[in-house]
Amino acid sequence: MFNRSRRNLTGWFMLSMGSILLTFAGISYYLTAIERLRTLDYLLYKKAQVVAATIQYEHRNERSQLDLSNVPYLGNLPLPPNSDTVYARWYNAQGQLQQFFGVAAIEPLKDAPEFQTLTIGAGILSNQPVLVRQITLPVQYQKQRVGYLQIAVPLTQVESELQHSLLVTLICILITLGIIAGAGWALSGLAMQPIQAAYDHLQRFTADASHELRTPLAAILSNAQVGLLAPHDAGERKHQRLEKIAEVAKSMTTLISSLLFLARCSGQLAAEALQPVDLVNTLRELVNEPTIKTVAQSITLNLEVPEQAVIVNVDRELLQQAITNLVTNACKYTPAGGRIDLRLFTHFRQAVIQVEDTGIGIPESDLPYIFERFYRVNASRSRETGGLGLGLAIAQQIIAAHRGTLTVQSQVGKGSIFQITLPR
Ligand code: ADP
Repeated sequence: MFNRSRRNLTGWFMLSMGSILLTFAGISYYLTAIERLRTLDYLLYKKAQVVAATIQYEHRNERSQLDLSNVPYLGNLPLPPNSDTVYARWYNAQGQLQQFFGVAAIEPLKDAPEFQTLTIGAGILSNQPVLVRQITLPVQYQKQRVGYLQIAVPLTQVESELQHSLLVTLICILITLGIIAGAGWALSGLAMQPIQAAYDHLQRFTADASHELRTPLAAILSNAQVGLLAPHDAGERKHQRLEKIAEVAKSMTTLISSLLFLARCSGQLAAEALQPVDLVNTLRELVNEPTIKTVAQSITLNLEVPEQAVIVNVDRELLQQAITNLVTNACKYTPAGGRIDLRLFTHFRQAVIQVEDTGIGIPESDLPYIFERFYRVNASRSRETGGLGLGLAIAQQIIAAHRGTLTVQSQVGKGSIFQITLPR
C-alpha cells in the first residue's frame, strides 16, 4: 500500500517537474533558434549592403540613367569571395528580373518582405529540398529606387546547429528527468515516513489492545458460563463469581482508558494548552493525595523541594499523572520499610524532578524496554501488583508532549531513580 502511494507521489512529482522542465527547455530552444536566425539575418543584410554599394558605385561611374543593363553580367555580380550564396538576383524598379546568379526567379518580384525562409525543391541545388534564407533589399540611387537586390544563403548550417542543440537539450532533459525521479522517490519516502509511523502505531495499538483485552474477556466469559451451568450454586459461590466479573471488568475499564489516553495524546502539546505552574506546590499537593498515601503506607516518602517557586509551562493535570505513575511504581516495587525520595531542583534552564526508591530495581537488560507499551519486567510480578505495563509508557508520552525527557537509572536489589527534565 505504501509503495503504491510512494510510486504515485513520485509519478505526480515527475509529471509536474517534468512539464516545468519541458516548458523551459522549449522556450530556451525557441530563443536559441530566434537568436541564431537573427545573427544570420544580420550577416545576410551586411552582405546585401556590400553588393548594393558596389552596384551603386558602378552605376555612378558608368551610367547617368537608371538603366543597369550594362552592369557586369550577373556571373560578375560583385559577391564576396568564397560566398555561400545560393542565388543573387537583380530586379529593376518594376520588379522585372534583370540579372541573376545561381537559381533564377520564376515570377517577377512583387511586394516581398525583407527576410523570408523558403524551400528550394529537390533536384535544383541537391537531391534533397534545401531551406534558404532570403533577403530582398531595395537599392536607391540619388533618392530614387533603381531596383531590388535579392540574395539567399542556405540554412543548412543553422539547421545542423539547431539539431545539435536539440540533441544536447534532449539528453539534458532525460538526465534531469532521471534525477527528478530519484529525488521524487526519496522525497515521497520522506513524506510517507510519518504516515507509515502513524499506521504502524495504529496497528500496534490495535494488536496490543486486542491482545490485552482477550485475557480479561476470557475470565468474564468463563465465570459467566460456569454461573449459567450451575444455576443452583450457593449464594456465596455466586457472589464470588460476580465479584470476579466486576473486578476484571474494572481492570478492563482502566486498560481501555489508558489505551485511549495513549492514542489521544500523541505528539506535542499546543502552546495554548500549557499554563505556568509552580512545581513546588504541585509536588507538595501530590504527596498529600489519598491515593499516594494509600500505596505508600509502609514506605517512607520524603519530599525535597527548593524554598522558592519553580515555574514551568505545563498541562498541570497531565504532569501530575506522569509523576503519580512514577511515585506509584516506586511504591509498588519497593518492599515495606523502604524509602522514596521525591526531589525537585533546577539545572541551568531546566526543572528536574527525581523519584528515587530503594526498591527491587530493574535488570539492565530490561531498561531499554520498560517505556514500551505492555512491557513488564516480570509479567507475573507486575500482575500481582495490578500492573498493565502502561504506566511508564503514559508517563513518557506526557513528558515528551512537554518537550521534556524521562530517563531511568537502576540497579537490581538497590533501587531506581526516574528523572523528569522539563524546559523552563
Ligand atoms: P506496570 O503497570 O506493570 O507497573 P509500568 O509501565 O509502570 O507498568 O512499568 C513497566 C515495568 O517497569 C514494570 O513491569 C516494572 O517491572 C518496572 N518498573 C517500573 N517502575 C519500577 C520501579 N520503580 N522499580 C522497579 N521496577 C519498576
